[in-house]
Amino acid sequence: MKRLLLVGLALLAAAPVTAQRRAPAPPPPPATLTALADEVSEYSLRGYVERLVGFGTRHTLSAQDHPTRGIGAAMRWTEEEFGRISRACGNCLTIAKPEEIVTRPPRVPNPTRIWNVVAIQRGTTDPNRVVIITGHIDSRVTDVMNATADAPGANDDGSGTAAVIEAARVLSRHRFPATIVYAVLSGEEQGLHGGRILANYAREQGWQVEANLNNDIIGNSCGSDGVCDSSNVRVFSEGLRWQGGVEIRGQVRSQGGENDSPSRNLSRYLADLAGDLGLGLDVRQIWRNDRFGRGGDHTEFLNAGFPAVRLSVAVEDYDHQHQDLRTENGTVYGDTVDEMDFPYLRKVTALNVAALAALARAPMPPEPTVEGAVSTDTTITWRGVVGATLGNGHYVVRWRRTNAPQWEHSIRTGPGVPNFRGIHAAGVVIGEADPRAEAERWSFSIRLPHVRVDDWTFGVSSVAADGSESPVASALPGGAFRPYTPPPPAPARQ
Ligand SMILES: [Zn+2]
Repeated sequence: MKRLLLVGLALLAAAPVTAQRRAPAPPPPPATLTALADEVSEYSLRGYVERLVGFGTRHTLSAQDHPTRGIGAAMRWTEEEFGRISRACGNCLTIAKPEEIVTRPPRVPNPTRIWNVVAIQRGTTDPNRVVIITGHIDSRVTDVMNATADAPGANDDGSGTAAVIEAARVLSRHRFPATIVYAVLSGEEQGLHGGRILANYAREQGWQVEANLNNDIIGNSCGSDGVCDSSNVRVFSEGLRWQGGVEIRGQVRSQGGENDSPSRNLSRYLADLAGDLGLGLDVRQIWRNDRFGRGGDHTEFLNAGFPAVRLSVAVEDYDHQHQDLRTENGTVYGDTVDEMDFPYLRKVTALNVAALAALARAPMPPEPTVEGAVSTDTTITWRGVVGATLGNGHYVVRWRRTNAPQWEHSIRTGPGVPNFRGIHAAGVVIGEADPRAEAERWSFSIRLPHVRVDDWTFGVSSVAADGSESPVASALPGGAFRPYTPPPPAPARQ
């Protein structure tokens, strides 16, 4: 530390010699998360949904080449929309169209081109770290193979698609350290093909995917039984990490971690954020991967080892999804615009926008490990991450009872914390950081005296100099925000 401070002072002392000209005005401070959320427009969301419905059907097996009807026309419109948004921000978006020719009976019986439209907003300082918002553009009616009937798909998933485009419109006016990817997926109803294609694409690009926020059915607030709820959104997350399989299960049995996958911590993060934003929208955390026995595109991200959650309405309306347009015994069926709640869709989209901004501004969560078996103290150790180690960045160590749902206790630590030495004096030992190494090669260690490792779950988040905090990564098997890789084999005993 001392050496680092000396270097900083030396630079300051040299500054007057070289700074002859007036320095350019500093850039304006980044918009607050609340201000970003406020930029989301109900009017433009409605416009996107109505435009999408106007393609008649967006069934994955519908026309690819018709000028105004079918999946092809809808995808071309999406690409044009991203193009328009990109031109407005000085071409800040790169548009990619990852695709596959899929033959997967029974739902894709013949070779079919399935493609996504993806707009990439490159991060300024940490571009390989990626946060992704997704929605699926394809629609369906009662018979999942009916590719010709009108399938408006206003809510499923015109709502999620509209949220993706609106997020691009709002966030492209701002800059973020990490990359934000806005992805409109196809082929969901025929077997989560768009999700798989995008997860493969992310791997091919070598992206470090920190989070996928998958929005599927986010635009209604009343169910067919008259139950209404416009003040909650459900966030679905897996508890035990699926990717890593039996190997993680064995470690979790020994150390714990059934409730501490990165996706579960992402869910906690969204719940906290919603509370802070004051949108009149709370997160109802649903601690299962998806709705009972059902699925969505985020599952393909989880299969690839990428943290992912699904956002969906508090109350589903089964009369107005996956239904032929018809009236039966006085009941109107079909996924139409008039059944939607656009003020509610605005709130859910605003939460997404704030979450993407928060994640992209904050550093990557660290990858802590914990020790303390047969000891009166617990020691948590992690390597430094870019954006939290140098400057005024820092870390927050958190812990909770093993049966507590949310993090309960915390302590801030790191070179950027003003009372760094105070913490040291309070009995917490900070590891010697090596100022010569890159930020991520720094090693931190904190000892919590009189805290027994058996009785608590621990995690660490990273905080940027501007105060943006990452989700917590649990110090448990599979807790890291990257695909699980097996630990190196233990060295052979001598
Ligand atoms: Zn859907």
